[in-house]
Amino acid sequence: MEGERDPVKKIAQLVRAGAVLTAYTCPACGTVLVKLKTGELYCANCERAVVVVRSEEEAQQALEVVQLREVRRIIFDKILQLGREIERLSASEMLEHLRSMNLLLEVYERLSRIHAETVRQKAPH
Ligand SMILES: [Zn+2]
Repeated sequence: MEGERDPVKKIAQLVRAGAVLTAYTCPACGTVLVKLKTGELYCANCERAVVVVRSEEEAQQALEVVQLREVRRIIFDKILQLGREIERLSASEMLEHLRSMNLLLEVYERLSRIHAETVRQKAPH
């Protein structure tokens, strides 16, 4: 199937596929948002998921979550990188390496917990 360019037609398509029209509009372009079956709000014009926030504080929180997710990704890459390097290290170097990995894993675990909590909060009541 070809991708629909016209946002109105695209919205109609999404609704036929089980999405629901909402009272929210896209903060970027003003198009009415649809709620996908996954629970995500989606702008058919921008062709992306939109996070609807109710206050300045929530906006800040949403931003922080996105940024933390990015940090988590960087840490994950670092852990993989260190893991790959272990192979060619001497025993004494390895100890230092494992300490670093341990710290990174702790941070990673904490960030994952924050992420999981946020997902739970967002779930419909
Ligand atoms: Zn939009």
